[in-house]
Amino acid sequence: MKRIAVFLLTIISSMNMSASVRVVTTLADLADLTQRVGGDRVKVDYIVRGDQNPHFVEVKPSYMLKLKSADLFLIIGMELELWAPQIVDGSRNSDLEVVDLSKGIKKLEVPTRVDASQGDVHRFGNPHYWLDPRNVRTILGEIVSALSRISPDDEAYYRANAESYLENLDAKIAQWEAAMKPLSGSKVITFHKSWSYFADWLGLNVVDQVEPKPGIKPSPGHTAELIQKVRKGNIKAIIVEPYYDRSASEQIARAAGTKVITLATSVGGVDEATDYISMMDYNIQTLTTAFQ
Ligand SMILES: [Zn+2]
Repeated sequence: MKRIAVFLLTIISSMNMSASVRVVTTLADLADLTQRVGGDRVKVDYIVRGDQNPHFVEVKPSYMLKLKSADLFLIIGMELELWAPQIVDGSRNSDLEVVDLSKGIKKLEVPTRVDASQGDVHRFGNPHYWLDPRNVRTILGEIVSALSRISPDDEAYYRANAESYLENLDAKIAQWEAAMKPLSGSKVITFHKSWSYFADWLGLNVVDQVEPKPGIKPSPGHTAELIQKVRKGNIKAIIVEPYYDRSASEQIARAAGTKVITLATSVGGVDEATDYISMMDYNIQTLTTAFQ
């Protein structure tokens, strides 16, 4: 009897072990979405905190360790994570599958000619597509496929979780769109070009960036130009990501009479952004308050 019990326990524990897919994502947002799809059948970890700039991450041995025992590594792609190949190589995990989630995304700002001479970090187009919640359906589709390749028996479970999450998200999207509808066409300046997909979704008019080019620090000349632009043009706010220095933006706002607001680009970017939906809730709430 005892021997049978031990035998059964062994089977049950080995079933649990085989059912757990180990996933590492670059962004905290992707970790949240993967957890929603994978439920208790995945173990998820991520690399970039929401208050860190995803373009510039200092590679650490601990990131390679995270990847060493992982089955899947989910990335945004489009060269957002230029640092990712280095940690993949360093992990020495030949079984690791790297999944680029940008495959099915309708990409914005794709240049007709690639020119890296001026240090533009968006040289293959704008990679900040996760900030349009309508793209989450495509992202979840890729996550379901990737998890199902590792654990085919769980495909129906992943699919059901994704559908129930998307149903909830669609209701939130309708709410966010309704809240922002009166503000459609409002002019803003953003620090970095993080908001192109977000603005495209909500009909915001992003007239310029505080950075002269994506990844290039503010310059006195460009800042002076922006002060003139804000003075002429009814700019509602300057949107700054949590990890950028605010001084150039504050200087423009003071000189030209507008305000600086912080919106989260990722889960954990502000305290209120504990998951993808609460991040978007925070951003929409902050915008509607600032534009009143
Ligand atoms: Zn960027």
